[in-house]
Amino acid sequence: MTDTTLDSENGAAPRRPDHDTARDGNPAAPGGGRTVAEAVTADLVARLARGVTAAPGAATARTRAPLTGEVLAELPLSTPDDVEDAYRRARAAQPAWAALPVRRRTAVLLRFHDLLLARQDEALDLVQAETGKARIHAFEEVLAVAGAARHYGRAAAGYLRDRRRGGAIPVLTHTVEARRPKGVVGQISPWNYPLELFAGDALPALAAGNAVVTKPDTQTALTALWARELIVEAGLPADLWQIVVGDGPVVGPAVVDGADYVSFTGSTRTGRDVAQRAAARLVGASLELGGKNAMLVLADADLDRAAEGAVRACFSSAGQLCISIERLLVHRSVADAFLERFTARVRAMRLGGGLAYGADMGSLVSGRQLETTTRHVAEAVEKGATVLAGGRARPDLGPLFHEPTVLDGVEESMAVCTEETFGPVVSVYRFDTEDEAVERANATPYGLNSSVWTRDTRRGRAVAARLRTGTVNVNEAYAAAYGSSGAPMGGMGDSGLGRRHGAEGILRYTEAQTVATQRLLPIAPSLGMDDERFAALLTRSLRAMKALRLR
Ligand code: NAD
Repeated sequence: MTDTTLDSENGAAPRRPDHDTARDGNPAAPGGGRTVAEAVTADLVARLARGVTAAPGAATARTRAPLTGEVLAELPLSTPDDVEDAYRRARAAQPAWAALPVRRRTAVLLRFHDLLLARQDEALDLVQAETGKARIHAFEEVLAVAGAARHYGRAAAGYLRDRRRGGAIPVLTHTVEARRPKGVVGQISPWNYPLELFAGDALPALAAGNAVVTKPDTQTALTALWARELIVEAGLPADLWQIVVGDGPVVGPAVVDGADYVSFTGSTRTGRDVAQRAAARLVGASLELGGKNAMLVLADADLDRAAEGAVRACFSSAGQLCISIERLLVHRSVADAFLERFTARVRAMRLGGGLAYGADMGSLVSGRQLETTTRHVAEAVEKGATVLAGGRARPDLGPLFHEPTVLDGVEESMAVCTEETFGPVVSVYRFDTEDEAVERANATPYGLNSSVWTRDTRRGRAVAARLRTGTVNVNEAYAAAYGSSGAPMGGMGDSGLGRRHGAEGILRYTEAQTVATQRLLPIAPSLGMDDERFAALLTRSLRAMKALRLR
């Protein structure tokens, strides 16, 4: 058995930064709700663990609850042979599913939507227990998955329907573009949004007629197993969606090797490996990767709204959100007024870990995340940055808590300036002109999300057009774009390839197939016509079609 989550460093008191202006800040949230042990019972774990595709007697991995450090689950580990078995089962189940009318398939998504809303407390408990995030941030996942289920439940038939295209010869050629499922989609997902990144990406794949083999992160496999159980209850054939669990470098490549298409979400580094492996097999892949997202506060912004938005932008899920803001660019003329409002709100944030609403931020997920966070803060402070709020780990609240932290005076030589922290840390930069703000925002190899605050929304959209990110939110942090299920979401540059949501989010799981039916006459000399007369006839036809604007 291996222990996948909390290593010995997690409980160690991290080093304190020199600047500590928030000694009295970040009160603990009131407790409440069930304990982790009450919510995630041994019976529940045993039932969910049976959903893992793994041979009897498999080795196991133990996970722990980030909030408390207590043991959460012991899960069977799939081997590469088990992954092959998962693909065999999924492949056998897929043709019958694909043969159903689209609306029979999407009816399952719509029932899943209703079940998820009705049973959301079970999901919220599991997400909190496995990730340590605050309940309000777990709820964002329910919201996003319900949005995807409803969107594709209603819109998939339209996205997938056959479309008439111009034929080789008008009237004589009847041409249709059809969408066929890829077959079996291999999905690899991370721990940070375990419900959303697991279910949200699989639902359109299933709606398009595919089977799916998913490897969630082991730390958050219970949430994935629960969501799969729920959609089976909603009517999905059980074999159609297989879940394998195991170490990324062992099981991940096997998932890529069996797939007809790969849907990967995770770090840019792993994404590159996955892309190369998929490319070697000539299999397509969508890659949703990291970011170093910027928020621009223009001189005419509503500072109260911007400060409130910045709290959500930077600290949702303790900053362990791919689209969260790590760089805060503020116009110099309003920087002091904005920072006064923002840091006051940050200091007042309630940290806590009960399985109930009330906390503004929960804990980090793992020792690795806490280590990166404390290292980035400590290094920045050592090199001269100032802590405006937060700055400390909070072992008094739980092994993996860290205060929401605002840094000023951050420079290029500091890791926090350019590397993704993926923790509750934001750096403040001042700018004088819009050009400077845009240049600075774009000065990163990443290109995932950005946020622009201004009272002039037309100007906000004009700035958006200059930003090299897959989504731009005007007067919102990230939820406006992410919640727009009908519009594509994804990254430019090192933030990835391909898009989730909208038409692209489902069509990526299909092959385009052109079916052209020729009627009455062939596209060749016929009825005794020689080649020269045929060529002359077609030339005249092309001219006539141009005159009649037929093609
Ligand atoms: P990670 O790349 O380490 O792991 C992601 C998944 O890949 C896990 O399931 C892991 O087990 C698996 N994996 C690891 N090695 C593998 C390999 N060699 N082959 C195949 N699979 C392998 O990422 P992480 O640190 O767990 O997740 C955080 C990262 O994910 C951050 O960079 C974050 O920005 C990014 N992310 C991006 C999005 C997005 O939509 N763009 C969403 C969430 C998270």
